[in-house]
Amino acid sequence: MAEIRIENLHKAFGDFVAVRDSAFTIRDGEFFVMLGPSGCGKTTTLRMIAGLEMPSAGKIFLDGEDVTFNRGSERDIAFVFQLFALYPHMNVRKNISFPLRIQRLPRREIRERTEEVAKLLRIDHLLNRPVGGLSSGDRQRVALGRAIVRRAKAFLMDEPLGALDAEFRELMCEELRLLHNRIGATTVYVTHDQIEAMSMADRICVMDQGEVLQVGPPMEVYERPATRFVAGFIGSPAMNFLRAKGGLEAGASGVEVNGGRIAVPRLQEALDHADAVLGVRPEHIRIAGDGPLRGRVFGVEYMGTRQLVTVDTDAGRLKIRAPNTVRVDYGETVGLDFETERLVVFHPESDRAVMSELYAGAGAGGGHA
Ligand code: ATP
Repeated sequence: MAEIRIENLHKAFGDFVAVRDSAFTIRDGEFFVMLGPSGCGKTTTLRMIAGLEMPSAGKIFLDGEDVTFNRGSERDIAFVFQLFALYPHMNVRKNISFPLRIQRLPRREIRERTEEVAKLLRIDHLLNRPVGGLSSGDRQRVALGRAIVRRAKAFLMDEPLGALDAEFRELMCEELRLLHNRIGATTVYVTHDQIEAMSMADRICVMDQGEVLQVGPPMEVYERPATRFVAGFIGSPAMNFLRAKGGLEAGASGVEVNGGRIAVPRLQEALDHADAVLGVRPEHIRIAGDGPLRGRVFGVEYMGTRQLVTVDTDAGRLKIRAPNTVRVDYGETVGLDFETERLVVFHPESDRAVMSELYAGAGAGGGHA
């Protein structure tokens, strides 16, 4: 079990900064997901935690001990590279026990630990079978078994499901999360897939261009994004953004969109008539005749239980997740109403959310963990 604390971690390759002043704490037993687009610095951060890459500045603590300059082998952290590359010529037992045999542990200990892990993964009846003939689900369990048999203090996983097709990925996500619930080891999991992150994480760390933008549980990151980037990266379809203006009269909390007023109860600053960006999730917009904003229907996609309606307004294009009972036609002008409690206003220059209390501590550098 381990708590991993990152303090002002920085990594430059020549002039290029891959990780900029990161600071967050991964709690003991937590399933912590690092999420961001390709090249944002997730892998570099993970490699520094593992001791495979030395930071340019900053510190890494493992259970309170400064391990920044310890070698990887001294950290007792397991880096799971390729979860699915099994040794085809070995049976299940040999595949799972491989890391213990490398460590040259006593044979009895190797046997006991291998059998314990196989039981945990419900593949103990397959121990003497060659991996070649196994179902793909069982093969994944063998791979997981090999990853956890070392009993490391923490597991680091870099896009372990990247090569799988969508359906299998979903199954594997479930399996991984169940396993985590059972063994409770601190896990740091890197992905660029927001759905994977949302479904597995206790907390998500969203990164972009080397910077940590927000650390929080999935619901918080979704409902209270700290920046416009986070809002746009999480959710499918992503949050909508409308051109707005701040600066309603004193006491009123809201913004002006296309000449109409929209209340934003949690708005922190009036933004003094400056330009602002209003963020609204597709499920928080209602198509209603008397809504404060009007627009023209540009598209309607039937999605089974819901429909996705695209509406063009003078303040920007909106995607709306609407019930199937709402009838709209292409080209029709509709009124739009918002769930005001769920609206988010972003500063036009910094792109940071200017929202009250809930955003406390969501500052750059991630001193919010
Ligand atoms: P991906 O999912 O594509 O791996 P990532 O978020 O994990 O993305 P990193 O692999 O951490 O990103 O890379 C961050 C940036 O640092 C990238 O632009 C990458 O090209 C650069 N980088 C990584 N390692 C090196 C290196 N050894 N030398 C130079 N640049 C590097």
